[in-house]
Amino acid sequence: MPLKAAIVPVTPFMQNCTLLWDEASKAGAVVDPGGDVRRIQAGIEKAGMTVEKIILTHGHIDHAGGALELKEALGGIPIEGPHRDDAFLMENLEDQGEHLGIDGVRNVTPDRWLQEGDTVTVTGSTFSILHCPGHSPGSLVYVNAEQRFILMGDVLFKGSIGRTDFAYGDHDALINAIKTKLLPLGDDYAFICGHGPTSTIGEERRSNPFIA
Ligand SMILES: [Zn+2]
Ligand SMILES: [Zn+2]
Repeated sequence: MPLKAAIVPVTPFMQNCTLLWDEASKAGAVVDPGGDVRRIQAGIEKAGMTVEKIILTHGHIDHAGGALELKEALGGIPIEGPHRDDAFLMENLEDQGEHLGIDGVRNVTPDRWLQEGDTVTVTGSTFSILHCPGHSPGSLVYVNAEQRFILMGDVLFKGSIGRTDFAYGDHDALINAIKTKLLPLGDDYAFICGHGPTSTIGEERRSNPFIA
């Protein structure tokens, strides 16, 4: 049964918090609950889904800032990802929230850190993990081969790439990860990214000026 997806824009950064669920069982997962947890819960209710787990692509505040609040609101469901290399960001979310004037942000440690080669299941569908550092050291991309579908986080966008102007950013590593790990997956892969519209690997291969 293919997963259905819905996007709930959250935080002042308009991050694409993504709901994934199986229409038959109504079970699913929430990807990158960065904040605005009530809005996410309204989306969960609208989908009529039961959330089994929270998945994080990386440790930035607009992706992980609401994860602990949502976890607790949903009875302590597990949080999986990102890579441990983003731990320093996730231990610092509350300070970032204060600095940015965003309320309700909490530090979070996932129940399961992930690394390249691991797999994550969402109600029977399997995602394999690619470690794609550069935007953040612990950024992960979740690949569902069966449905030719990717949860991209802030690695690759429609017409752009993740910013790397942080002290820990690494432009060359990001480009390398996109070219050696993502483009070879195949043009027919569709992706939901952390910000802006969805795209496909093929469209980005043809038209993205950052990887041409
Ligand atoms: Zn980010
Ligand atoms: Zn982001």
